[in-house]
Amino acid sequence: MMSVATQSSSPHVHAAPLKGGHDHPGPQGGAHDHKACVGDALTRAHSLCEARGARLTTLRARVLELVWSSHKPRGAYAILEEMAVDGKRVAPLTVYRALDFLVEQGLVHRIESLNAYVGCPEPGQSHAGQFLVCERCGDAAELNDAAVANAITAGAAARGFRALRQTVEVLGLCPACQAAG
Ligand SMILES: [Zn+2]
Ligand SMILES: [Zn+2]
Ligand SMILES: [Zn+2]
Repeated sequence: MMSVATQSSSPHVHAAPLKGGHDHPGPQGGAHDHKACVGDALTRAHSLCEARGARLTTLRARVLELVWSSHKPRGAYAILEEMAVDGKRVAPLTVYRALDFLVEQGLVHRIESLNAYVGCPEPGQSHAGQFLVCERCGDAAELNDAAVANAITAGAAARGFRALRQTVEVLGLCPACQAAG
């Protein structure tokens, strides 16, 4: 299945819990120092927002950190629950607004088919995200192939449609799930 959706077309609804799965390395592969991933993501976010004059508030930064708690997309509801563990009562709308902000800034991508969010490892340059979404474990590896994005833009233009945003989601099985049989 392949679907193309604009990032802002669908209303936010509560995320269903992601399908459970066995633990296996994220798209970045193997055991790695994930704290470094999170640290890098936050550092990049702070400098990008500062350069753009966008306000990365403490709450927005915390939501970003929670999105980055792994390389798997996370639903807004899971993020809300973790914020409650922090001891802060946060209204769902506040979290959705923070996620909207992070999506607008390109710091996270929304994966429509999973109704979840994943941190972008390269938020600096604007790009159309293409995602390889594993139907079994919920992993979403980001692929940024300009040729794919250009083909969609050109195909849309040929039909008189001006493409503004695109997120391509390709559903399938990740290498680890295929190996697991
Ligand atoms: Zn990591
Ligand atoms: Zn990205
Ligand atoms: Zn998988």
